[in-house]
Amino acid sequence: DQPLHELDPEVAAAVDAELERQQSTLEMIASENFAPVAVLQAQGSVLTNKYAEGYPGRRYYGGCEHVDVTEQIAIDRVKELFGAEYANVQPHSGASANQAALFALARPGDTVLGLDLAHGGHLTHGMKINFSGKQFDVVPYHVDAATGLVDMAELERLAKEHRPKVIIAGWSAYPRQLDFAEFRRIADEVGAYLWVDMAHFAGLVAAGLHPNPVEYADVVTSTTHKTLGGPRGGIILAKRDFAKKLNSSVFPGFQGGPLEHVIAAKAVSFKVAASEEFKERQRRTVEGAKILAERLTAPDVRAAGVNVLSGGTDVHLILVDLRASELDGQQAEDRLHEVGITVNRNAVPDDPRPPMVTSGLRIGTPALATRGFTAADFAEVADVIAEALKPSYDAQALKARVQALADEHPLYPGL
Ligand code: PLP
Repeated sequence: DQPLHELDPEVAAAVDAELERQQSTLEMIASENFAPVAVLQAQGSVLTNKYAEGYPGRRYYGGCEHVDVTEQIAIDRVKELFGAEYANVQPHSGASANQAALFALARPGDTVLGLDLAHGGHLTHGMKINFSGKQFDVVPYHVDAATGLVDMAELERLAKEHRPKVIIAGWSAYPRQLDFAEFRRIADEVGAYLWVDMAHFAGLVAAGLHPNPVEYADVVTSTTHKTLGGPRGGIILAKRDFAKKLNSSVFPGFQGGPLEHVIAAKAVSFKVAASEEFKERQRRTVEGAKILAERLTAPDVRAAGVNVLSGGTDVHLILVDLRASELDGQQAEDRLHEVGITVNRNAVPDDPRPPMVTSGLRIGTPALATRGFTAADFAEVADVIAEALKPSYDAQALKARVQALADEHPLYPGL
């Protein structure tokens, strides 16, 4: 029963170093967040020891009376949070949830429509070497080059031409809200199922700051660790007609024993997501992204060839367009890293540079909002980013400003 630091100092040192990295830098990867300590505790609990194949009340193992309680709490809370008729909280990740959902709705070889990966879609929405692209006949739809918005006219045309079994709505890199009513109308017109992957914006939905896809879609999947701010994992929500198919697709279709420690942590995060404090945090998240978009479209930044796709944002992230900048995505990511801000480079639609380099950045505000950033703090970090992307910049001065922001908002002070 030795603690980690005694039993395995090598691993403990790396964990400590990662905590220090999170505390001393500004995390602006749009898909990341900081889980509350209570979530970390639930996830680090003895529930990790338990096998519980099956579902609450119908398990293939004995001794499930306590994990039945936590899993049922998670199911009830997430149904309540999103107004869903059905929930499955067992998917190990967002990709696992998507795999189970797609195989519940369609068979290999069926046609599905998904947003092109290079236009902001996710790997699991039809990328060639992902299970989705390998096993399904994927027809990608795109964003309009001029507006940066999903081209709904193209979507309707492709849907009528290809009569897909499933239309996937959702994204990993897109700064606007999707028109779910229009997706539903098109899906109904061609007899397709509508599946929404709300992984990125689930926290905004929970806070009432974004339309709720559960009201429109047959099936909704999500991760629990992005804007939602919980442990890494996935969930599936649906109309009750899909319950049986989805349950058997997750288990025994794709998974064995559920991660009951993670499910308990999901339950805790759903409780947090129903709180007023969470709503206020999501409001600061969206406000922060708008402040960033405004700063990075100002004349002094535009003069350096930097712009923001679609001209702004409605959500928790912005997409910086560097096609006219002398910096490519890799160089811009490296510059921000140098001053203590973590972001990821990101392809822009029809990117002239290769995928490992790119001409864009994806910058998100959820983690900093969780850290307590106010509008004034977001204005300061937006200015640091603006200055760092100009041809000449003072790395030391910018680093000091980043350090001051990090010091002002201590992260995990008790850990
Ligand atoms: N769906 C979307 C829209 C995502 O952006 C992501 C992650 O980036 C996923 C699914 C996959 O989640 P995970 O990394 O947990 O498999």
